[in-house]
Amino acid sequence: MRFDLITIFPEFFVGPLDHGIVRRAKEAGIVQLHVQDLREFTKGRHKTVDDRPFGGGEGMVLKPEPLFEAVEKLLGQSMGDATQAITPPAGTAVVLMSAAGRLFTQETARRLAKLERIVFICGRYEGVDERVAAHLATEEISVGDYVLSGGELPAAIVLDAVTRLLPGALGNEASIENESFSELEAGEPASADGDSHRRKARLLLDYPHYTRPAEYRGWKVPDVLIGGHHAEVAKWRAKQAMEKTRRNRPDLFGFTG
Ligand code: SAH
Repeated sequence: MRFDLITIFPEFFVGPLDHGIVRRAKEAGIVQLHVQDLREFTKGRHKTVDDRPFGGGEGMVLKPEPLFEAVEKLLGQSMGDATQAITPPAGTAVVLMSAAGRLFTQETARRLAKLERIVFICGRYEGVDERVAAHLATEEISVGDYVLSGGELPAAIVLDAVTRLLPGALGNEASIENESFSELEAGEPASADGDSHRRKARLLLDYPHYTRPAEYRGWKVPDVLIGGHHAEVAKWRAKQAMEKTRRNRPDLFGFTG
């Protein structure tokens, strides 16, 4: 998988992508990362990437030309014009990070993880000229119902979530099957035994985890986890996952219960 990050703050990504799973995936050649300074595609001494909004109002808007030219240079192809729209190659997504985009979910991450290349466009200021969303980006993604000051953190979020789904990126492959928001396997019956409880729990949030010490400041690890009884542990985890989901995310519980 190749990731390109188009930004006016290339230094921003020094650090966030240099740790843990993303770093290891880079070193193992599972992902290639390229940070593209948008200002390389500006003309003139001032390297202007933004301009005032048509129609008036506060703030500045990222201009379309540098963004179109940056994407075209990266992809090695034209993206066309109003007379002839040209799409990126199959397997490539051009993602505009936007508070007004479609909400990013684990399902989005799974879909993106099947691609070969993702080009992220990180907005700033009041946002990005709408022609970028309409005619350059293949999709517009929001990481949540709140407004951040730039698209860099959102892009890093999507990149991280996608990377850890790539084959070989996690040390322990099983660990993506048993976590919050994991995919339901088609046609699974929900019965009362421990195993299907666990499958059902995968639709929900993760169950609580504990490690040593068994007692900390008087707070004890639940007895069932120490007993070594596999089926009892599975049942307890399923119940806890459901309770936690009901408590923290009743919206999810309604869909999956
Ligand atoms: N005026 C815009 C917000 C601009 S914030 C609005 O009201 O929707 C500046 C940039 O930060 C955006 O262009 C986008 O790239 C990024 N950004 C802010 N919040 C975001 C979010 N929740 N998800 C993804 N990107 C976001």
